[in-house]
Amino acid sequence: MSPPPTPRGPMVAPRRPSPMDACPVHALRRRLQSAHLRPTRQRVALGWLLFAKGNRHVTAEMLFEEARRVKAPVSMATIYNTLHQFTQAGLLRSIAVEGAKAYFDTNTSPHAHFLNEETGDLMDMPAVDLAGVDMPPPPPGYEVHRVELVVRIRKSRKPVSKPQAR
Ligand SMILES: [Zn+2]
Repeated sequence: MSPPPTPRGPMVAPRRPSPMDACPVHALRRRLQSAHLRPTRQRVALGWLLFAKGNRHVTAEMLFEEARRVKAPVSMATIYNTLHQFTQAGLLRSIAVEGAKAYFDTNTSPHAHFLNEETGDLMDMPAVDLAGVDMPPPPPGYEVHRVELVVRIRKSRKPVSKPQAR
């Protein structure tokens, strides 16, 4: 009888790709699990609404309305809790815009925003380099966690120059 082979390196075998990887709901469950969130039915349902449409900016009210439309029975409190849990877990980025209105961004990579003051719409800004910004250091005992840039825009008050008619 030969001795069992000595395990080398980490004991955990790498996960083999499975046909289930192609299933978006399965992928979402795995994404929640790797963020240390138990994939409850409500989290999967709300995660599906949040992440299945590409990068976007969502408010609690928008998500509540979307859940209502697909007949997912969730309360506003659940919506708030889930959005905050997802944000804590790094799946969403919260953007404080107006007093009461908080946007949650499914794109968690650093980027800046335009806020349309008239419609309340938030738009991603093309890449902006903040490295050259001369910022004072934070108060003693604090460090900069991240820089959030929201540029507020409105319809131009200047007359739009029209091409000259012949
Ligand atoms: Zn964004």
